[in-house]
Amino acid sequence: MTQIRKVVLNSRPGKNGEPVPENFRVEEACLPADLNPGHVQVRTLYLSVDPYMRCRMNEDTGTDYLSPWQLSEVVEGGGVGIVEDSRHDSFTEGDTVASFSWPWQTQAVLEGKLLQKLDPQLVDGRHSYFLGAVGMPGLTALLGVREKGHVTPGANQTMVVSGAAGACGSLAGQIGRLDGCSKVVGICGSDEKCQVLVSELGFNSAINYKRQDVAARLRESCPTGVDVYFDNVGGSISDTVIAQMTEGGHVILCGQISQYNKDVPYPPPLPASTQEVLHTKHITRERFTVLNYTEKHEAGMLQLSQWVREGKLKVLETVVKGLDNMGVAFHSMMKGGNVGKQIVHVSE
Ligand code: NAP
Repeated sequence: MTQIRKVVLNSRPGKNGEPVPENFRVEEACLPADLNPGHVQVRTLYLSVDPYMRCRMNEDTGTDYLSPWQLSEVVEGGGVGIVEDSRHDSFTEGDTVASFSWPWQTQAVLEGKLLQKLDPQLVDGRHSYFLGAVGMPGLTALLGVREKGHVTPGANQTMVVSGAAGACGSLAGQIGRLDGCSKVVGICGSDEKCQVLVSELGFNSAINYKRQDVAARLRESCPTGVDVYFDNVGGSISDTVIAQMTEGGHVILCGQISQYNKDVPYPPPLPASTQEVLHTKHITRERFTVLNYTEKHEAGMLQLSQWVREGKLKVLETVVKGLDNMGVAFHSMMKGGNVGKQIVHVSE
């Protein structure tokens, strides 16, 4: 029997609590001896930790499309790996596969229907990109900008991105520029991140919200106002950005991570003053969910892959090694420890 290690949910942080690495624990287990028809045995290469997982730590996730993780049961999320054995017609040994329901295990037996077969040439063999720039965060950035951003080449638009040094944000700013914005400004949580955005990713300027006066720095860097706002964080940062938006501007409501450790509905209610700005300036602010655009994912992945291979889209990753560090990696990402996509490297 094949011995494996897995990560289970040890405790819940509570709806109003910060998650800690100890919310997870590692256990030993065995894979079933025989593979049933329709099943595939995989070895895990990389696992993803994502902000939405914070909702899955609650008994009630607050959304109908996410189920809660159960105490003492294996945790699951985005993963990529290699087929070791298959009793499903679509997969053979050696295939690269990914799933949004990949158990946090070193190896696993999964139903073939949960797996997506991927061409490693799309990422020049860098499999972790399937969890980042050529995966869900890349699609979120691309489709968020394209579906809700109303970016128009030649229109001299200024885009602001919050959570700008993270997985989605670092790509969204670059895509805004590729699609025609004349200026892109990032907001993030450290001077090091600001430096990376400007010197490596081509943002025109970056604001450290922990150290700088965001309103004043926005007035400086966006003198004609903010036309498009890719919002990853919500809360007071977003109120400040929206206050400086132009007539007919567009908010891409991607995420509200500043509110995820609080017991509030999604999207969290806005202060009356922010609602007033949206209303009087006719600013759109529609909810965006990447999973609602599955028919556009394949073409989107091809576009992202092409940009990455041409060097037009720079990819940043923060990689932690070892399944034992899933909890540490998740906690770190929620606290801003990542530059680019936070990944856990489980095996070669
Ligand atoms: P990420 O940005 O790589 O990581 C999370 C980042 O959030 C941290 O690095 C941290 O960076 C920032 N952060 C944490 N607490 C914060 C706070 N209180 N205020 C401001 N910033 C804070 O994560 P991601 O996977 O790219 O996700 C970014 C957002 O997109 C999340 O809101 C997520 O829910 C959303 N999302 C939405 C979709 C969709 O379909 N709509 C899909 C994927 C992700 P700093 O150092 O800058 O604080």
